[in-house]
Amino acid sequence: MTGCVISRILADQGFDVEVFERRDHVGGNCHDRCELNSYTHQYGPHLFHTSDRRVVDFLKNYSDFTPYFHKVTAIIDGAPLPVPFSLRTLQLTHPHSLAIRLSEKLIEAFGFGSQTTIYALLNSLDSDLKELGGYIYQSIFLGYSQKQWGVDDPLLLDKGVLNRVPVRISNNTNYFDDTYQMMPTYGYTQLFKNMLDHPRIALRLNKSIELTDVSIDCSASQMLIDASQYAHLFYCGMIDQFCDYTYGRLPYRSLHFESKKVATNHADRPTLQTNYPSNFDFTRIADYSHLSSVLGLKGHQESMVITEYPGEYDPSSLNFSQAFYPLFTSSARTLYLRYEEHVKPYRALVTICGRLGHYKYYDMDDACVAAISIAKRFLSSIV
Ligand SMILES: Cc1cc2nc3c(=O)[nH]c(=O)nc-3n(C[C@H](O)[C@H](O)[C@H](O)COP(=O)(O)OP(=O)(O)OC[C@H]3O[C@@H](n4cnc5c(N)ncnc54)[C@H](O)[C@@H]3O)c2cc1C
Repeated sequence: MTGCVISRILADQGFDVEVFERRDHVGGNCHDRCELNSYTHQYGPHLFHTSDRRVVDFLKNYSDFTPYFHKVTAIIDGAPLPVPFSLRTLQLTHPHSLAIRLSEKLIEAFGFGSQTTIYALLNSLDSDLKELGGYIYQSIFLGYSQKQWGVDDPLLLDKGVLNRVPVRISNNTNYFDDTYQMMPTYGYTQLFKNMLDHPRIALRLNKSIELTDVSIDCSASQMLIDASQYAHLFYCGMIDQFCDYTYGRLPYRSLHFESKKVATNHADRPTLQTNYPSNFDFTRIADYSHLSSVLGLKGHQESMVITEYPGEYDPSSLNFSQAFYPLFTSSARTLYLRYEEHVKPYRALVTICGRLGHYKYYDMDDACVAAISIAKRFLSSIV
């Protein structure tokens, strides 16, 4: 996404842009395919949600969007329950009188309609709320985060990781709370194809930019890629790879996706996403038949179902050879900051960007905002 957004903004301003993509398709991790009358997201379910109107205005130039409110089911003690944890989940997991008492305490402490964090509950001075926090942590957060991040104690991760999933003091069972929640009506891939459809943009798929392809001479303000001269490189890959792992490898988490076609069954898989916090080695299963009706497509008797296994990124591994998530530990952060410092001398010629370049947990809207501001900064630097 980052590369597509920057490319389009610069092309609209009269720059010739060449996009190098190591995969055989555009759209990065948002890539999807239309199959069985729905869209299948090849790299995990991608739900667009934002409260930033600028992102919506920008993306709407390249696609229509269809409202979609994401719901997630978690299998807890063998039962399907709505997450994030809400007053509704509380009613379904606790005896009636206890649920009422805890609901009253939650409403008194945080206010009806609000949301809080798992940390706030775990640190609550009220022993009932603290105990409830322990229950929610054990049943929803602990096992899922251990598998996802490969750590024994997820509370040691950067707090932003667990804070991504709120605890709702309401009956709202939507996964997100943003003003705009929607899916590109013709899929993400088509959205990015439309964005790159510009006479000044040349797309080269299956072309990986390796360090050996790039030659940078800062004193002469010259940069060559494959012996051709370019004014600037916006590099959306891993920052440590770009620096030839000078200080060692940054840790990333990877994912292995197992897809299969099964008979459509919304009774067993009531939502697009089902989480398995405490059982199995996988974290979640996505059933893409749920997107058919959202996108105005006719249902199909079969569904594409993709099971997601997390693992440590290892370029030589069979299943975990793609870096998907930065790891949010303090040592990884320190290492990243060294790399950030390392690339500073090149910034007149190279901008390291995107999720893997900034080593951040960017959602699509974050990536889009960051890309728009990088493109604007570049444009203002050359006038
Ligand atoms: C499993 C998963 C689920 C997600 N779910 C959501 C969600 O529900 N909602 C949401 O808003 N966001 C979600 N995201 C985040 C979303 O994917 C990103 O915000 C978005 O893709 C923007 O990322 P990006 O532009 O940094 O890079 P990417 O989309 O990762 O694109 C970078 C591209 O650069 C290419 N590349 C890398 N290095 C090189 C190189 N050396 N040479 C050539 N090409 C190279 C890669 O192949 C890739 O295609 C999810 C991410 C993952 C991994």
